[in-house]
Parts: sequence; structure tokens; C-alpha cells
Amino acid sequence: MLREKKPIRSYHGEQFRTNPTNKKHLAEDFGHRCAYCDDLDTYGGGYRAYHVEHFAPKEKFPALRFDYDNLLYACPWCNRAKWDIWPSNDPKINVVGKEGFIDPCSEEYDQHLERLADGSIAGMSPLGKYMHKTLQLYLKRHAIVHNMDKLKRKRKELEDNIAADKKLGKDCSKKEAALQLVTKDFFEYFDMWEHESKGPA
Ligand SMILES: [Zn+2]
Repeated sequence: MLREKKPIRSYHGEQFRTNPTNKKHLAEDFGHRCAYCDDLDTYGGGYRAYHVEHFAPKEKFPALRFDYDNLLYACPWCNRAKWDIWPSNDPKINVVGKEGFIDPCSEEYDQHLERLADGSIAGMSPLGKYMHKTLQLYLKRHAIVHNMDKLKRKRKELEDNIAADKKLGKDCSKKEAALQLVTKDFFEYFDMWEHESKGPA
């Protein structure tokens, strides 16, 4: 599994003819995470820096420009890497041989890409390897962001736990030591992230 949660395009209201409006719904549906790499927008320039991505590219299929079912919330790195690359002349034919793209909103997406223990992303099938290479999912920043995100949530969980224990008068020295370690790890990734963030965005 690459993502903890598969995004669902839940918005089925009026079809908006502007993508800034679609973007608000997409950010909610995708939990403010890039559909391809799962990076939280907080670590990629925020909501404003994230893009409305067209699964079947708008350059090739202008009729799908505002079609919500063809839209994704994506980070600038994945969006720029994918550009107008598409394996066919038909928006419905998303894979030809071992090349193409799987819609991140489908169950199938996670069968092709995997999150490794060190936080990096790997292609698990020939198609997964194609997506990994084309979308540049090998970029170091994706592993760094994933680890920061995970450690930050762990920190919050420990802090809440310690606060609750303290209220009950329990000894929380073990948890406090764990919190120190998690905080130290978080800032190690934070330094790497600051360094990496000097790239595009
Ligand atoms: Zn991305």
C-alpha cells in the first residue's frame, strides 16, 4: 500500500467551469494530499502551490478540462513530471502494454506502487515501475515528507498520551523519552526537507 487511505471523488454537485472552484472540492476529497505521491500539501508549498491535475491531460483532451471525474489534487512535482504524457489517443485507454497511468482513485493504484520501510516509493509491477519513473516518484523529497508527516503524527499522539497520563498522576518518563527521540528524528527530516525545498515549487 502506498497510501493509508484511498482518495474518493465524493463531490457530485454542479459541474464547475473553473478549476479554482474544483480545487476546493478536490483538496477535501484528497485529504490535502497529492493523489500520486501522497505528500501532504503543508510540506509542498501549501494549498496554493498544489495543482488541479488532469488525469487524461487537458492538452490532449480539452473536453475533459472541467470534468471532475478526470481531476486530481496533485503536488507541483508530480504534476510537472506527468505533464501531457498519455499512452493513447483515447482518454479511456490509460494503459498500453506496460506504459500508462492508473487512476489514484482506483483500488488498483496501490497494487502497482508500494511504500518501503524507509519511506521511499517503489514500483511493484512493470506498470508501477513506469509510473515511478515517469512521475519521478523516486525523488528524495517524497520519502522525507512521508517521514516528517508520520513523525509529526506520532509526536502529537505521544503528547496527547502524556497529557492524559499526567492528569491521572501516572509516571510518563518512558513516554517522555520516546517523545524526545521522535522529536529529534522529526527535526533531522525537517533539515533535509528545508534543503530539498530549494528546488521547484
Ligand atoms: Zn505528488
